[in-house]
Amino acid sequence: MDSFQLNQEIAYLGLVGNLRKEYCIRFIRKKQQFFKELTGQQEETLTANSETLSCYKGCSRCCSLFIGASVQEAEAIVYYLYQNEDKLQRFLETYPVWREKVRASGDLFRKPTAGDKSIGDLAAYARLKIPCPFLQDDACSIYEVRPFVCAGLIVTTPPEWCDPKHPKHSKRKRYIISDSALADRTFYWKNLEKPVWSFMPIMVYDILEQGMRGIPGISRMGDLLSRYIYDPDVQDVIRRYEKPSV
Ligand code: SF4
Ligand code: SF4
Repeated sequence: MDSFQLNQEIAYLGLVGNLRKEYCIRFIRKKQQFFKELTGQQEETLTANSETLSCYKGCSRCCSLFIGASVQEAEAIVYYLYQNEDKLQRFLETYPVWREKVRASGDLFRKPTAGDKSIGDLAAYARLKIPCPFLQDDACSIYEVRPFVCAGLIVTTPPEWCDPKHPKHSKRKRYIISDSALADRTFYWKNLEKPVWSFMPIMVYDILEQGMRGIPGISRMGDLLSRYIYDPDVQDVIRRYEKPSV
């Protein structure tokens, strides 16, 4: 058993694991309700401005942008991947290639521009056009649980303008309808001190690879990690994993 398999096996064991699982199920239900309402909101926006939606199934130029998500969204995506083994395996294969490309280009999403010290150079990152590792045959493989920022973006100018290298890119007309859940601090243990937000594919991979240790900000979440790791149900599996095979 490798560490990915171990983390999958113990993900929802014990007291904390159960709370984690219940939270993910509730979060996904809430997100899908939001997606239903979002369609209505987007239609209202377009009608009010007498505009037509340019986005269509199979259009994926926007899937090479920096995709941020909350830690709760990342946890729900991990849960979804654990329920969809084929998607999980595909992501584990695709991610290292994607991460290497992002790293080779200098991790621009972490390099702030001169005018903005708080965030990386997301415009330069977009120009690299590195497709999201969840993009498969021009479709999102985690569509049901995709981040709010992906679902909330629509444009009404020609789809070609969404290409960061298109001369009219800066003139594209877009609407970003987000959700109050972006500022959500609820979690399955104690509430977060402040919203935790990061680059979605990296966050998801870290949780798959390191288990709960990979959750960003885990050190500020009180005794969550120790209560989880030292739970007898979790320890049983870890001991089995560590036992040398004869
Ligand atoms: S935002 Fe642009 S690239 Fe993305 S689906 Fe809509 S038209 Fe296509
Ligand atoms: S999560 Fe899905 S919708 Fe969002 S960028 Fe990746 S492939 Fe595109």
